[in-house]
Amino acid sequence: MKKTNLSLLMLGVGMSVFTSCSKEQETAVPTGSASAQDAKVEEAYPGQTGTALPGKFGVYQQINGENILEGDIILTAAQVNPTGPQTESAGRNTGKWPSAVVYYTIDAALPSQNRVTDAITHWQTYTPVRFVKRTTQANYVTFRVGSGCSSNIGMIGGRQYINLASGCSTGNTIHEIGHALGLFHEQTRNDRDTYVNILTQNIQAGYENNFTKYGVSGYSGTDFGALDFGSIMMYGSFSFSSNGQPTITKKDGSTFNIQRNGLSAGDRAGIDVMY
Ligand SMILES: [Zn+2]
Repeated sequence: MKKTNLSLLMLGVGMSVFTSCSKEQETAVPTGSASAQDAKVEEAYPGQTGTALPGKFGVYQQINGENILEGDIILTAAQVNPTGPQTESAGRNTGKWPSAVVYYTIDAALPSQNRVTDAITHWQTYTPVRFVKRTTQANYVTFRVGSGCSSNIGMIGGRQYINLASGCSTGNTIHEIGHALGLFHEQTRNDRDTYVNILTQNIQAGYENNFTKYGVSGYSGTDFGALDFGSIMMYGSFSFSSNGQPTITKKDGSTFNIQRNGLSAGDRAGIDVMY
């Protein structure tokens, strides 16, 4: 019986969704990082909404010259306004890290680098993805200090960044690596209305687009399995609330906690399919 799952979207032209199925609950793998209750949702520029602009793939926020989607995903200029036909192309191939190997560097100025090494160890323990210190490779991720927690989506080509403010935990770092591997947020699945209610009236002004389904945003894809409330890519019930009331509830109206301890069974199964 398929149950859990997440929608894994590879950016790149045809945008494919990769998912998986796993049995049982959304079992989180503890890593000893932030508890589920006090985990914070990731934002590239906390407290800043910037300017909402229409892009090829839906509305995004322009903040400090960067193109931000769903709060913490950095879109390249080409991803916002692609030139050329959006058909099958190298875009899809470049969205996924070849051979499931991510080359990386850590900026010397980044404090608490154990957040990065612990997050990498977590990914390597529970998935086939491997992280290798970059030497001369052209495509790689640099972990550096940022104003919030943010990442590009998928491999974009050349150097890309995962930005980590001091408040970004190991769990947040695991989440941002998920974006770099090609994952979008779980609550943006096309089928999410089957599982959750989005309470728009409780969402902070300017953050409504963080709750837009990827299909509405212009991405194509397919959801497999069920929405995974325990996914490390899922918002919590109170994420981006303007008034202390929930922004997302289960269909029965009950709330749920954000989970940023580690990859859920669904996260791991999805990555297995993808990589
Ligand atoms: Zn995110």
